[in-house]
Amino acid sequence: MGSRNVRHALAIAALLLGIHGAQATPGAVDEARIIGADGEPGNWLAHGRTYGEQRFSPLDSINVDTIGKLGLAWYADLGTRRGLEATPIVVDGVIYTTGDWSRVYAIDAASGKTLWTYDPKVPRAWGVNACCDVVNRGAAVWKGRVYVGTIDGRLIALDAATGQLVWETLTIDPSKPYSITGAPRIVKDKVIIGNGGAEYGVRGYVSAYDANTGQMVWRFWTVPGDPAKGFESPDMEMAAKTWNPAGEWWNKGGGGGTVWDSMAYDPDLNLLYVGVGNGAPWNRWERSKAEGDNLFLSSIVALDPDTGRHVWHYQTTPSETFDYTATQHMILADITLGGQLRKVIMQAPKNGFFYVLDRATGQFISAENYVHVTWATHVDPATGRPVESDPNQYRDEKKLIFPAPFGGHNWQPMSYSPLTGLVYIPAQDLPFTYAQEKGFKYGRHPWNMAVDMAAAMPPAGQDPALTRNVMRAIAKGHIGAWDPVAQKEVWRVQHDGPWNGGMLSTAGNLLFQGNAKGELVAYRADNGQRLWSAPTQSGIVAPPVSYAVDGEQYVAVMVGWGGALGLAGGIAPREGDQVGGRLLAFKLGGSAQLPPAPPPPVLPQPPAQTASADTIGKGDALYHAYCSVCHGLNAESPTLADLRYMQPATHELFDKIVLDGLYKDLGMVGWSKYLSADDAHAIHAYLIERAHQTQREQAGGWWLGVKNWAYGVLAKLIAWFIQITA
Ligand code: CA
Repeated sequence: MGSRNVRHALAIAALLLGIHGAQATPGAVDEARIIGADGEPGNWLAHGRTYGEQRFSPLDSINVDTIGKLGLAWYADLGTRRGLEATPIVVDGVIYTTGDWSRVYAIDAASGKTLWTYDPKVPRAWGVNACCDVVNRGAAVWKGRVYVGTIDGRLIALDAATGQLVWETLTIDPSKPYSITGAPRIVKDKVIIGNGGAEYGVRGYVSAYDANTGQMVWRFWTVPGDPAKGFESPDMEMAAKTWNPAGEWWNKGGGGGTVWDSMAYDPDLNLLYVGVGNGAPWNRWERSKAEGDNLFLSSIVALDPDTGRHVWHYQTTPSETFDYTATQHMILADITLGGQLRKVIMQAPKNGFFYVLDRATGQFISAENYVHVTWATHVDPATGRPVESDPNQYRDEKKLIFPAPFGGHNWQPMSYSPLTGLVYIPAQDLPFTYAQEKGFKYGRHPWNMAVDMAAAMPPAGQDPALTRNVMRAIAKGHIGAWDPVAQKEVWRVQHDGPWNGGMLSTAGNLLFQGNAKGELVAYRADNGQRLWSAPTQSGIVAPPVSYAVDGEQYVAVMVGWGGALGLAGGIAPREGDQVGGRLLAFKLGGSAQLPPAPPPPVLPQPPAQTASADTIGKGDALYHAYCSVCHGLNAESPTLADLRYMQPATHELFDKIVLDGLYKDLGMVGWSKYLSADDAHAIHAYLIERAHQTQREQAGGWWLGVKNWAYGVLAKLIAWFIQITA
């Protein structure tokens, strides 16, 4: 009997004796337990439940026959309106999860009672370095400790029993705009953590820290540094051959390649897989004169977890220039291909193709597009390289391309059910207008992509109601149930809008997903039939998990709208987003009730408009260049402050807030480095105009119905035209 089987047998014996977890040290997770996770299905011990990150729960008491009895068991208020993206870890009846600003929570898994919280007190001004909301995708638990990365680049270790700090270490150069939103993984007593920041301009890497002491064990850089300074490793020497030094990426944005989310581990092969992000700047003509593949951007890299050395890599988007990260969820599975059982790794990165690779060697097996794709025609099966539809892409003129930088699939985790053999992809179809930024100079904006963001924005002065309709008509999300053997979609659940939650499949033939509309839904995993739903009052982006306490199965999910598309917004604003974030847990016969949602906020009377149409138009353009990424398209935001709803006192303080940083301790830094007093005045005028427009919209009238109907028809025509011409 192998050690894994012994562990399995012990876990079953413990379950039978009913002593499961009761006497355990809190958070006593180790490698043997994670490897033997199927032997204790009541726990969710690691980010993807197993090292292979399949996000499939073997629990089946909640199933297609009993699903009708599923009800709310309890809820825990987390006191935030920012995005919640974490996967809760569940160990022996305790949930360890994370919220906004890298806060950590330990919660009783049966009652929902908070056991302890830990606030790493991230300086709020650092939030401006987080491209996509001050989110955190979860903790790791190991040998009585809880490990979390913080937005400001620290890795912290807490006592799982008390939440007391054991150690913390800074994983970044604090003079650079790095941030951490991803969950650490723990392999052989090493805590593996990467970071984000490629839009701002940083050089990517992933590091391993000793779980016991916090000392760094190794660091793998994902892109080469200044060639004049030599190379950190032979791996970097190899990568440097795929870059053109004339691009001077090392002092123009760092090159990017941040490892901001996905990892997986195969203990038998002793390989750690990391997903690598986009280039910095995005624009390959600026970054490397569009020459070379620019390793290891947009690659899956297999590392030796003992040394951090490169073993193999597969690059999904050579010479990427679209923000097509390969940081998306990676799943390890053993599947039969051509009559042979193959150890594969699967990924649906932003670029729109679903990849199946041999995970021992990195050999390309197959790839097909899982969403509408226009940047490439296909992936050549002989070479495993994408065939770009136009090598010049947006070099000479702006061009509408599918998928957008939000990706055909973003960070929201997929799920693989070994029972159905399907991978469930939280996918989305939306395009983006790419254009080179003329006269790009590093540091002109906080974001340094050498891509002209204004080209992607609606023209200044366009009626926001039309923009809203067009966005809703074009940007569509869906669940794609994908057969990785046949490389084709088997069925699809179409959503109204993009940016829905991560996936969970279970042995009860169920598939769970939260959505942008504010509901948790269960579908049949084999055919996608919608079986059950519960209102959650706010949109969901996080993935659900399932666990059991004393033999009773639960499904839990973090509820809270936000993240990249949630902030940029303007797409799926819902009633109830002002409710705030929660952790919800459901069980059969659960009868808890959410308190009624508060009424929507009342629009304060805006100040009189005194600015000219020109000034308002200038403010519109400036707002969408500097503010909309956090405060939302057309100043509509369910997540951060909705600036149409500013109180009279806030209007009075506008310049002090925007230019001088009066609210920097709330996360709103001053922008005087980028904006003049005239600029701030124009933005203010635009926001006052938006408040008046909103006031008129809320007053309604028959003409508003007619206008919206006409816009709806027009939007569908525009969406159709874009689909056939892009
Ligand atoms: Ca990016």
